[in-house]
Amino acid sequence: MSTNNKSKAALRARAEAKVKNMLEPLRSFSMKEVKKVLHELEVHQIELEMQNHELRDSQQRLEVVGVQYTDLFDFAPLGYLILDEKGIIQNLNLTACAMLGLERLRIIGKPLSAYISRVDSDVFFLRLRSAFNTGLLPSFELQMKHHDGIVFTTLLNGNISEDHGKTVCRISMQDITELRKAEAQALKLQNEATRHEKEAIEHYNTELEKTVRKRTRELSDALESEKQINEMKTAIVSIASHELRTPLTILKSSITLIEKFHEMGQFDREEKHIALIKSTIKHFTNILNDFLSLDKLERGTVRVNKELFDLQEFIRQIMEETEGILKKEQHINYSHKGNITVNGDKKILHNVLLNLLSNAIKYSVDIIEIHTQIQNGRMTLKVIDKGIGIPIEDQKHLFTRFFRAKNVKDFQGTGLGLSIVERYLELVGGTITFTSEENKGSTFTIVIH
Ligand code: ADP
Repeated sequence: MSTNNKSKAALRARAEAKVKNMLEPLRSFSMKEVKKVLHELEVHQIELEMQNHELRDSQQRLEVVGVQYTDLFDFAPLGYLILDEKGIIQNLNLTACAMLGLERLRIIGKPLSAYISRVDSDVFFLRLRSAFNTGLLPSFELQMKHHDGIVFTTLLNGNISEDHGKTVCRISMQDITELRKAEAQALKLQNEATRHEKEAIEHYNTELEKTVRKRTRELSDALESEKQINEMKTAIVSIASHELRTPLTILKSSITLIEKFHEMGQFDREEKHIALIKSTIKHFTNILNDFLSLDKLERGTVRVNKELFDLQEFIRQIMEETEGILKKEQHINYSHKGNITVNGDKKILHNVLLNLLSNAIKYSVDIIEIHTQIQNGRMTLKVIDKGIGIPIEDQKHLFTRFFRAKNVKDFQGTGLGLSIVERYLELVGGTITFTSEENKGSTFTIVIH
């Protein structure tokens, strides 16, 4: 006989015994009374059967609800865990089991820390302790480990409550690995987009800077060339007025002298001055040509034309040209050493010497000396005056175009002569130096190889 049948038989025996006990007192009852008792018994039986039926119904309904709740718990989209104070898993749903990769029975009783990535285990214990102290477990993230070793990111949330008289922590667990990956990917894409944008802006900036630099350069070139053109115009006008004044003065004085000599009948002296006028006009034309081609000089296109000539004769001619502008007590002493023949550009040398001599005459009142020397193919030419001299602080600027020392305010001039002299000498490979002392005089020295 099976266990089921055995228990059914025992139940029957107990029921029959009970009925026997119940029927025993009925033996003294009349038939009518017995019938009545029987009727009541039948009614009770029916009542009992009905109650029994209802009970079975409610049990079935309870079972259905139980299954529904189990279903809800086990297959919820979140993992649920119940932990004790030590972090031991008391219970968990199937979703949590699936996340950890093990069956429920293999997990229950194990510490949750066994499934937490080592880096986060301290975090977990601190949170759990705080939860049991405060009754709250605010959401936090944990790196957890699947049974197969794969680490995944979870978001945990929980509260502290009572479970069959025991304080437990109920935790919901959500796998947010994909969410975090998607966020990281979105961030990466955003960073890349930002980087591209930054690169594009940088590129645009570089291009813009290049364009600005180019435009600025073009503009400053244009300004510079306009400035140079203006400077040149001013220079030409100034030079013309400065450099042409000397020969004009010579012409004027020679004409006056010719008139005088003519009246006095001194025709030989008249002729000398006519010759001087001729040479001055020639020189005048030369200077004019040179000045008008200052632009050529600037660009280095002035040609050097060398020829052999007698230096002494050349100097004397220049001395004659300046005779007309000498002051009353002023005269020029000239001395020469060495060879007298020079191979050089007469026009340039003429211009240079005339400039130096004009300055010496202009800035002094006494004797002026000219020394020339030719030695080993080197020509040295000195113009010495005992005039106002050049203040020491001005000396370093002397060859700068338009520069005039502070002690020459009462003298006419443009500050161009010496800069032209320097430029001409550069062309013929010559140099110019000077020594000067204020109120004592100046010595200008030219050396040409
Ligand atoms: P400027 O037309 O002013 O004479 P220069 O270029 O010939 O121009 O000379 C530049 C400056 O040098 C003069 O303004 C003057 O201050 C100074 N200078 C040149 N030669 C002499 C000199 N012999 N004695 C004193 N100062 C001189």
